[in-house]
Amino acid sequence: THFGYSEVPLSEKQHLVDDVFHKVARRYDVMNDLMSGGLHRLWKDTFAAKVNARNRKGFKHLDVAGGTGDVAFRIAKASGPDAEITVLDINGDMLEVGRDRAREKGIDEKLEFVQANAESLPFPDNHFDAYTIAFGIRNVPRIQIGLEEAHRVLKPGGRFLCLEFSQVNVPGLDKIYEAYSFNVIPAVGKLVAGDGEPYRYLVESIRQFPAADEFERMIRKAGFRRTGYERLTGGVVAIHSGWKY
Ligand code: SAM
Repeated sequence: THFGYSEVPLSEKQHLVDDVFHKVARRYDVMNDLMSGGLHRLWKDTFAAKVNARNRKGFKHLDVAGGTGDVAFRIAKASGPDAEITVLDINGDMLEVGRDRAREKGIDEKLEFVQANAESLPFPDNHFDAYTIAFGIRNVPRIQIGLEEAHRVLKPGGRFLCLEFSQVNVPGLDKIYEAYSFNVIPAVGKLVAGDGEPYRYLVESIRQFPAADEFERMIRKAGFRRTGYERLTGGVVAIHSGWKY
């Protein structure tokens, strides 16, 4: 059945999201390469480089909706030997792939994998130096609550960073991107995962996501200051950031 994302009640969105990532967990990484033409690697490099983890003693980092570990691994590589990096995801299948990859890379002692919801983080207040979420916030049913949780668990002086699809603001590119996301992404999804429907849902969730300015306002509303954003690849994605004071 084809469903409109906006018509799905809030309480059921999480089930749909969980279903998608349960189905694709083992093929998630190859799928990302195929669908973004490898661009997601560059976006994640740029994103992770903003977390200044090097030479910081006892650096505590939280990567939410961390999935198979792509962002956390980059931060782990750039951090000091005593850094503690927590990868949190609601989906155990994605985390399991992440754990296997961390073991293969030999960086598993720095990383901890936690299964939990971004809307209710199982950590005390003022605990982390930095919080990242990449291609995850749009899957969280109540985004504002997710942002408030991010603010709560960060220490004063802690940094919030979010990488997410945004709005293409280059004339011409917007049409290409639209055609690409509605046709190519579900087609590749069908080819690799055997099912295009979950991907159609993800594409729609990108369209439903607030515009960059509006999302920045939500981040401020959650309590962050010195907020801002940067568009990459003509606005296909954006990096939002803010500080807890
Ligand atoms: N950050 C990884 C990356 O960039 O490759 C994974 C991104 S993947 C597109 C989205 C992830 O968000 C999935 O692993 C999914 O399980 C997770 N997720 C969805 N809803 C969540 C929630 N409410 N709390 C925590 N994680 C969630």
